[in-house]
Amino acid sequence: MAEERVDVVVIGSGPAGAAVTKRLTDFGAKVLCLEQGDWINRAEFPSERPDWETQLKTYFYPNVRNLPEDYPVMTGGQLKAVQMANAVGGTSIHYTAHFPRFHPSDFRVRSLDGVADDWPISYAELEPYYDMNDREMGVSGLSGDPQNPPRIARPTPPLPLGVLGETVGRGFNKLGWYWWVADNAIISRSYDERPACMWHGKCTLGCPIGSKSTADVTYWPKALKKGAVLKTRSRVREITVDAKGRASGVLYYDRNNQIQEQTARVVVISCNGVGTPRLLLNSKSKLFPQGIANSSGLVGKNFMMHATASLEGIFDKSMDGHLGARGAVACSQQFYETDPNRGFVRGYTFQIARTYGPLHHALGGITGSPVPWGAEHHRVMRKRFPHVIPVIVQGEDLPNENNRVELDPAVKDSSGVPAPRVIYKNGDNNLKMLRHGLQMGRMLLEASGSSEILTSRVVVEASHLMGTARMGNDPKRSVVNAWNQTHDVPNLFIVDGSSFTTSSSVNPTSTIGALALRAADGIWERRQNWS
Ligand SMILES: Cc1cc2nc3c(=O)[nH]c(=O)nc-3n(C[C@H](O)[C@H](O)[C@H](O)COP(=O)(O)OP(=O)(O)OC[C@H]3O[C@@H](n4cnc5c(N)ncnc54)[C@H](O)[C@@H]3O)c2cc1C
Ligand code: SF4
Repeated sequence: MAEERVDVVVIGSGPAGAAVTKRLTDFGAKVLCLEQGDWINRAEFPSERPDWETQLKTYFYPNVRNLPEDYPVMTGGQLKAVQMANAVGGTSIHYTAHFPRFHPSDFRVRSLDGVADDWPISYAELEPYYDMNDREMGVSGLSGDPQNPPRIARPTPPLPLGVLGETVGRGFNKLGWYWWVADNAIISRSYDERPACMWHGKCTLGCPIGSKSTADVTYWPKALKKGAVLKTRSRVREITVDAKGRASGVLYYDRNNQIQEQTARVVVISCNGVGTPRLLLNSKSKLFPQGIANSSGLVGKNFMMHATASLEGIFDKSMDGHLGARGAVACSQQFYETDPNRGFVRGYTFQIARTYGPLHHALGGITGSPVPWGAEHHRVMRKRFPHVIPVIVQGEDLPNENNRVELDPAVKDSSGVPAPRVIYKNGDNNLKMLRHGLQMGRMLLEASGSSEILTSRVVVEASHLMGTARMGNDPKRSVVNAWNQTHDVPNLFIVDGSSFTTSSSVNPTSTIGALALRAADGIWERRQNWS
């Protein structure tokens, strides 16, 4: 039997679904969110376990965790694995919490560089929502960055650079390269009734005190206080439609795996760049035989994830990278924009990261270079720990229709819903960009005084999931319009990284949050169209 109709049903409780729910609830809408995972008790985070470092090999991967709330994510092409969390707060539970913004140029890559497509919105249109999302989430950082548009004072001061940041800062200065202290969704002072970070550095395994700004400790408590309803252990199988082709609600499995119907005036999907196309493709009907909102055939296509490789510089002095919050210490966008002399289009960001503890170093660190066993072990270990500065090269991944999410013909989740398969191959542009990034990264570490440099292979694991229901003005070339509203179904909205037209070379979550708040405004402003 259908449950009482709500104004808006939101699917997924990560940073995107949480932001939409909070904003619409603030306006006075009756909002229900369905989340397949559950609240995670902080005392049960892997960061609280003595073997926490071993969890770095398993905790991020749904196929390894294999919990009932997870769904299998099959891979193809060069892709080795997809990382995500299925819980209240979504993948923010274990994100690193680096919180940069897109540049204005990122919204205009077709006009500027003749590649991919322009977004139908500009940085200026999104800017107030970036500010709002920063305030809601709680961000640390330093205003005044000369290479980015001015932004409001960060809600809390920057995280300390430490000896690691100061050392690499001197390296940047020596080369005359631009760099700036990183924005992070980690609060350096108590904020919004949450305590300041205590610098123990296990952030990606779950912050035990709530200083990392994850959706479960930021948006959700405020939204629930205002009257939003969050139903956990509720896995949506498909979007239902009426005879006129409007979304009428959803069918979902409750915590007893019984199918339920929830009707709504508006449906918002926020299941991330893999979960969202999966749900759209699984929502087949007479009116939408290829999956809902898929008249363009582009649902699932143009999957993007950032081109990534990394370096570790080993220093004679201790860098203490294991002490302090993760996020990023500093960033350089010296090579962000296209320079035709480099032989590739668009560019990359250098993220200066921190490290984990000794076990992580022994097992290979971020470059995958394990410390040898046997006679050499102690000597190499003493050399590396805690003497490393990690540098991540993160490049813009251009959209390519062959990189895609589709339904696996055989594999299903614990409720019997077909699983997604993600197929991905790095393009030539990515490989040229990463080659350049690794060369420049080496120069940076040498200028910073490194005695030995390790480099990784190109990373082909996906944690930034984007592009699979892209935004645009042309219904033939995109799935949603400038307000995250699907071209085909006027009361169906897609609000997460799926809607990204391009990927930029920065982490996606602050842009996902900003888009979600803006989409909520659009939904509310058009409420006279709700039936
Ligand atoms: C290891 C790691 C590090 C990262 N570091 C950073 C970083 O430093 N900075 C940054 O910006 N980003 C980072 N990210 C990415 C960031 O976590 C995501 O961009 C962000 O969480 C996306 O938010 P979302 O709400 O769109 O999706 P998610 O957070 O993935 O939430 C989607 C939710 O939808 C639920 N769901 C899915 N399908 C269904 C269904 N059918 N029914 C009901 N519920 C469903 C899921 O259970 C999940 O809770 C990182 C990711 C990983 C894995
Ligand atoms: S370092 Fe700070 S943000 Fe990270 S887990 Fe510890 S308290 Fe949380």
